[in-house]
Amino acid sequence: MSKFWSPLVKNLVPYVPGEQPKLTKLVKLNTNENPYGPSPKALAAMQAELNDNLRLYPDPNSDLLKQAVASYYGVQGNQVFLGNGSDEVLAHIFHGLLQQQLPLLFPDISYSFYPVYCGLYAIDFEAVPLDQQFQIRVADYAKPNGGIIFPNPNAPTGCLLALDAVEQILKASPDSVVVVDEAYIDFGGESAICLVDRYPNLLVTQTLSKSRSLAGLRVGLAVGHPDLIEALERVKNSFNSYPLDRLAIVGAAAAFEDREYFAKTCQQVIDSREWVVAQLQAKGFEVLPSAANFIFARHPQHDAAGLATKLREQGVIVRHFKQERIAQFLRISIGTQEQNQALIDALGEL
Ligand SMILES: *Cc1c(COP(=O)(O)O)cnc(C)c1O
Repeated sequence: MSKFWSPLVKNLVPYVPGEQPKLTKLVKLNTNENPYGPSPKALAAMQAELNDNLRLYPDPNSDLLKQAVASYYGVQGNQVFLGNGSDEVLAHIFHGLLQQQLPLLFPDISYSFYPVYCGLYAIDFEAVPLDQQFQIRVADYAKPNGGIIFPNPNAPTGCLLALDAVEQILKASPDSVVVVDEAYIDFGGESAICLVDRYPNLLVTQTLSKSRSLAGLRVGLAVGHPDLIEALERVKNSFNSYPLDRLAIVGAAAAFEDREYFAKTCQQVIDSREWVVAQLQAKGFEVLPSAANFIFARHPQHDAAGLATKLREQGVIVRHFKQERIAQFLRISIGTQEQNQALIDALGEL
C-alpha cells in the first residue's frame, strides 16, 4: 500500500492465475492448457509473418481474422469482436455492457475472474447458487438483473447447460445482456452462436487458448448482435487500438482454417477425458460430468488440499480452490496419455 495509490487500486482484489512453474519436468494439469501443440499451419503462418513488416503496426481491426471467424461460424464480420485473450474481451464486456443499475447475475461457483472484473469496474453482482448437483438452475435467473454471465461448460465444474436451457435464460431476460463464456465448448458442447441472430441480447465469448492450443498467443473473441459488438469496439478503441499483434492475427486465422487438426486434437482430448474419468472412478473418486478439457473430482476419504500437495511432491500439479462448497474438489486438466498415466500412477502411490 502506498499513498500514491488511487482509492480504486487500494480496494482491488486481483485474479490469481494457476501456477506456471519454472521447473519443466512437472506434469502440468493445473491450467487447462491443451496438451497437443497448435496447428502446424498456424505455426507456419506465424513463421512467415516473422519479418521486416514487424516495424509496422498491425491492422487495428484484424480484418483477416475477423473474416476467418465469421466464415467459420457463418456470421457477418460486424458480429465478431476480437481481443487479447478472452479475458480482455470479457473485461470490455463488463465495462461496456454489464455496468448497469441492477446487479449482474452469475453462478456462485464459476470463473473466479467475474467478481474481479466487478471490483475493477464497480459492478454490483449477485452470486446465484448452483443446485446440489452443481448444475445451473435456469429458473433462478428469471428475475430483474443488470446482465447475466456464465461459462458453458461451467468452470471449474465442467458441467454443460443444454442449448434449450440457455435459450430459456435468454427469453426470461430480453432486456439484459446474457453472456455465455464458451471457453471450453469445443470439448463436448454445442455453441450458442447459432442463436445470435434470434437473440439481440446474446453475446458468446470464446478463446483460442484451450481447444486451439494457443494460450501463449492471447486471442479471444465475442460473437453477437452488431450493436453489442459496436459497444465493445468503442471500449477497445478507447483503450488499445492494437490488442492483436501481426503474429496473432495470422496465426489465429490459420488455426481457424485448419479444421482437420482442430477436430482431431479435440477428439483426442475427449477420448482421454473419458479414460481419466473411468480410472478415477475406479479409485473411488466422484467425478462431475464434464464437457470440458478438465474434470472436477473429489474423493470421499481424502482431503483435496492434502491430495494436491502430495501430487505435487510426485511431480503432478492440479488445481485446488479454497472456496466454500468446492474445497474438497480437485480440478484436473486432461493431458497427453502419458501425462494422464502419470497422474493415475501418482494417485496409486498415495
Ligand atoms: C481460460 C478461460 C478464459 C480465458 O481465456 P483467455 O486465455 O484469456 O482467452 C475465459 N473464461 C473461462 C471460463 C476460462 O476458463
